[in-house]
Amino acid sequence: MDATLKKFMDLVEAKNPSEKAFHQAVREVAETILPFLDENPKYKAVKVFERMIEPERVIIFRIPWIDDKGEVQINRGYRIEMNSAIGPYKGGMRFHPTVDLGVLKFLAFEQVFKNSLTSLPLGGGKGGSDFDPKGKSDEEVMRFCQSLMTELYRHIGPDTDVPAGDIGVGGREIGFMYGQYKRIRNEFTGVFTGKGLEYGGSLIRPEATGYGTVYFAQEMLATINEEIKGKSVAISGSGNVAQFATEKIIELGGKVVTLSDSGGYIYDKDGIDSEKLAYVQNLKNIKRGRIREYAEEFGAKYVEGVSRPWMEKCEIALPCATENELNEEEARALVKNGCICVSEGANMPSTPEAVEVFLENKILYGPGKAANAGGVATSGLEMSQNALRMAWTREEVDQRLHNIMINIHNTCMEFGKEGDYVNYVKGSNIGGFVKVADAMIAQGYV
Ligand code: NAP
Repeated sequence: MDATLKKFMDLVEAKNPSEKAFHQAVREVAETILPFLDENPKYKAVKVFERMIEPERVIIFRIPWIDDKGEVQINRGYRIEMNSAIGPYKGGMRFHPTVDLGVLKFLAFEQVFKNSLTSLPLGGGKGGSDFDPKGKSDEEVMRFCQSLMTELYRHIGPDTDVPAGDIGVGGREIGFMYGQYKRIRNEFTGVFTGKGLEYGGSLIRPEATGYGTVYFAQEMLATINEEIKGKSVAISGSGNVAQFATEKIIELGGKVVTLSDSGGYIYDKDGIDSEKLAYVQNLKNIKRGRIREYAEEFGAKYVEGVSRPWMEKCEIALPCATENELNEEEARALVKNGCICVSEGANMPSTPEAVEVFLENKILYGPGKAANAGGVATSGLEMSQNALRMAWTREEVDQRLHNIMINIHNTCMEFGKEGDYVNYVKGSNIGGFVKVADAMIAQGYV
């Protein structure tokens, strides 16, 4: 490791002990931003980057709730208000047993860059809880969400902090949290995004992250005169992002051969068509079942325990499950098997060593903060519609989403060109940094 980077990271690690995911996210950005600061001393002089790694505010709180047996349960709630230089804090809520301060700080930090890339006025934040919605009744989930919001409501607001969904937080959870917020505040405002269509949600918001990840892949492929049509695509996860990435790939003529969940992955050599996808959506969103059942239904291969499909042959890979789900060995297998494009629907799904393999082999590699920014961008569009008290058509929102993804790709090209190759890691880090850093300088030391 270069001496400046080491010195910087030693400080980050000493100040934020045991927040491994946060260290990883900061280091990945520091690798490209520190050399950029040397070339642009105006940022260095006022320590903008050092300020960006310190959250503006961290809120941690107790969430007591009563389960169906009448027993008291206690979870921990968080909201990380990372950076509001260019707009109100914006970022999802995650409900998963692995949630802790380090995970949410990594997600909030990435969110600042991602939101800046969308070119919308959105600051960065993230929140959630170690609550696991799996296996809970609707009533338990509602009681938990209401208890969470009974504290969180005082920290958020349509011009302050606007949460959304993430792992474990879909339409059901957003509805319950929004309902409790509205009840306590006695106001109907756009304080959450990802809301139901009946109460202020935007068309295309559920689809946006998955669609956007595919639009980004399309743009990357176009730089080498390639397209999605006819290509085999491996996708991980089977939640919101994975489902709509699958839908868009099918629409564009690609063949999705894998999906996964934390229990294992399926490989379907015939491809997942619209009918099979409808089965997955019912299985995951309504029945809340396991991806193993897909293999039983359609006679596909099921690999248990290994929740990742990257050793399977594919030309495009879309990691859409969770962080660090694609390691060096799997990255090498992807490259060896002819994969030419990786577009990340999930946040930080590739380990640093895997990213190194993609860059060394000069394959198209779109990091999450660029490739999955379509979700938050459409959340930004939902906020605009709420403020205008209007609802745009499906086509209008999709067109705006598509244009935003094209613009993000252009920004990455502008800042990431290295000869013939586009380093999208560098492009997205610097492209996301500049706008926030300039706003922070303009606003003084706040
Ligand atoms: P989701 O609907 O809850 O689906 C998550 C999927 O990933 C599920 O299939 C889940 O399997 C799997 N998964 C989660 N944690 C896992 C783990 N530790 N090991 C293996 N598999 C795991 O969540 P989502 O909204 O699709 O989010 C997926 C990723 O996209 C996350 O990285 C999220 O931060 C990112 N993202 C989401 C959005 C958005 O708009 N939703 C926007 C930008 C980025 P199980 O069901 O077995 O847990």
